[in-house]
Amino acid sequence: MRRDALHKASTEISKNHAMIFMENLGVSRMSKSAKGNSEKHGVNVKAKSGLNKSILDAGWAMFATMLEYKQRWKGGMVEYVPAAYTSQRCSQCQYTSKANHVSQSKFECRACGYQVNADFNAALNILAAGHAVLTCEVDAIATTVKQEPVLAIR
Ligand SMILES: [Zn+2]
Repeated sequence: MRRDALHKASTEISKNHAMIFMENLGVSRMSKSAKGNSEKHGVNVKAKSGLNKSILDAGWAMFATMLEYKQRWKGGMVEYVPAAYTSQRCSQCQYTSKANHVSQSKFECRACGYQVNADFNAALNILAAGHAVLTCEVDAIATTVKQEPVLAIR
């Protein structure tokens, strides 16, 4: 059922879009066990194992693979962009703060007051990052970060 749903979604997206930008989420790295070893015990094991399950259940890697070959068939493209800060950066003024991401669904910029669905804001950041990758301005993204790095997993 999941494979069928992913095929339908990826076909629909591929039919209607020549350029697709996706976050480079590093699914295999993110789904690594949090248990640690006998020398060094992991932290937040329970929370992370729940997160691992949801990451793997979502079938992101399978979905990405489908999008890639369907885009190749049609002469389109899939570009991966760095995932860092896409959920914390304001797509309007570029102010980046963990505090901007108020809840799972709500984004509210502490600098300019922009309020929008958090996923929509992240999508605008991914689009901008994709354009930057295409024009070889990846370093420009890194320089817009105005705060110390904070691990963000959406
Ligand atoms: Zn802002």
